[in-house]
Amino acid sequence: MFTQQQVENAKALRRDIHQHPELKFEEHRTSALVAEKLKSYGYKVTEGIASTGVLAELDTERDGPVIAFRADMDALPIQETNDSNYRSEHEGLMHACGHDGHTATLLMAAEAIIGMKDNLCGHLKLIFQPGEEGGNGAARMVEAGVLDNPRVTAVFGYHNRPNFPAGLLFVKPGPAMGGNDTYRVVIEGCSGHAAMPHLAVDPIYVGSSLVQHLQGLVGRHKSPLEAGVITVAAFHAGEAANIIPGRAELTVNIRSDRPSSRKALAGKLEQLTHGICEAHNATYHVEHLHEVPPLVNDSHWAEQVLHYAQAHGVSEKSEKIDYMPTMGAEDFSFYLQEVPGCFFFVGNGDSAYLHNDRYDFNDSILPVASGTFVALAKGLLEHT
Ligand SMILES: [Zn+2]
Ligand SMILES: [Zn+2]
Repeated sequence: MFTQQQVENAKALRRDIHQHPELKFEEHRTSALVAEKLKSYGYKVTEGIASTGVLAELDTERDGPVIAFRADMDALPIQETNDSNYRSEHEGLMHACGHDGHTATLLMAAEAIIGMKDNLCGHLKLIFQPGEEGGNGAARMVEAGVLDNPRVTAVFGYHNRPNFPAGLLFVKPGPAMGGNDTYRVVIEGCSGHAAMPHLAVDPIYVGSSLVQHLQGLVGRHKSPLEAGVITVAAFHAGEAANIIPGRAELTVNIRSDRPSSRKALAGKLEQLTHGICEAHNATYHVEHLHEVPPLVNDSHWAEQVLHYAQAHGVSEKSEKIDYMPTMGAEDFSFYLQEVPGCFFFVGNGDSAYLHNDRYDFNDSILPVASGTFVALAKGLLEHT
């Protein structure tokens, strides 16, 4: 599917991006590089979407579906400890999630796909988004209208996965990655003397009751056939041995695998907090700090990914899995809330894990990852 030269070019591009990592919404060099490449291939390019996002379009002017492919471009605030000759040149910043590889993958596919444009119908959109790492760049790209005019029929993206065989293409129909809802819960009591609790409202007692009852949401409100977990990641209150403090602050992290489990957990947090606080005369404030919806793949489009990758001989090994590979969150779910599609995975081989300071994207998986996008373009847009 690719010439040796194309593979070498994509590898060089990946390493160039790796050397120059940029944090969320600061991907200025990366997005300029992406836009320049896409223009040189012949795409219609729109820059500066949601700060540094790029949209490339190929309108074949023939009737057909509107297909979107997405890559993410941002790096992480991690000091790289690899000693490769292309290691990060930016102190304290590193491509530790492989978004350098995802960007290079989609550029490699972009060049191959436009080479077949005379045989294609419909409309292709390539979305290079900023701020996946905690920035919900996907939501901002959706708000900016990248899925509209024309409305996207199906959207596809992927993530590399360490510790799965290098180049293994796999899909999980249905729930595939976790949702992440993070809240700050502030409980306001009434401070007082440790020896006179009846004259105070103890926010530590109220807060610890909440901590206990939160696990009841997991055990009694969520279906046992669905996945979800609640972690109270921080609990701050009090300073002195003889004072009941006036205030407690908790950070609550909720992971869920689908809208119904999210509703049973995140959707119940405020009601539970209200009930416990009211019972003990405390007041409260709940703030939703961060949200990423659960990532749920459309079963039809998940099958199509495998079908076309197999039909075009993209990977020696590809498979459908029946378990979620992680409860980690991925903001691709914001696209899937709007239009159907599939977020697939490609094994990164025996590498350090994502967000580790020794992680590195495995260049040998570029042809499989990129080839899957090309196979989808051929399968879905080729006219007969
Ligand atoms: Zn990441
Ligand atoms: Zn990532």
